[in-house]
Amino acid sequence: MNNLLKKILFIDLIKGLLITFKTIFTTPVTIRYPKQKRPLEDGFRGRHAFVRDPETGKERCVACTKCAQVCPSQCIYIDYSINSETGARVLTKYEIDALRCIFCGYCEEVCPVNALVLTEFFEYASYTREDNYFNKEKLLSNWDEFIRQYEKTEYLNKFWHLSGIGRDRLPIGKREPKAVSKKEESQ
Ligand code: SF4
Ligand code: SF4
Repeated sequence: MNNLLKKILFIDLIKGLLITFKTIFTTPVTIRYPKQKRPLEDGFRGRHAFVRDPETGKERCVACTKCAQVCPSQCIYIDYSINSETGARVLTKYEIDALRCIFCGYCEEVCPVNALVLTEFFEYASYTREDNYFNKEKLLSNWDEFIRQYEKTEYLNKFWHLSGIGRDRLPIGKREPKAVSKKEESQ
């Protein structure tokens, strides 16, 4: 069929309309966000939080600084003092500049006591840089906010449970990581 005949019979237009017509009867790939939300994949990495320990009501961090050492963005800042009686480290400062974070998950993976987590909470856009600069208190409140809206009764992050590494080579907290009970831990 030559070009002139194609033009006279509107062949290209008809082909285009047929595609449009076919698409009307297919399931849309988009959803009506924010009314509808897609289920998140296991290992989703959202806003940072400090797990609130049910016994102390505080963070679990032992100031080992492993997370800051492993962070490729170098956006974790930690300071600590030493308890003169026990010799244990006491966390005095913990800050994450989340705008520099690349959400690699290394920090939560390396944490020996599963104190830190990249939660499944992702709706935290803001107008100021300060809102995405998380100190210790903000990290704890991030956890409270996240666990309140978490639908299941227990929370276990994929990165707390490492696979492919011999059990003996893992810190105790990583060998059999315990799920966090939402009932016990939400404040
Ligand atoms: S997710 Fe990666 S880049 Fe972000 S704070 Fe943790 S280690 Fe750093
Ligand atoms: S790795 Fe865990 S325990 Fe160690 S400083 Fe980071 S958050 Fe605290």
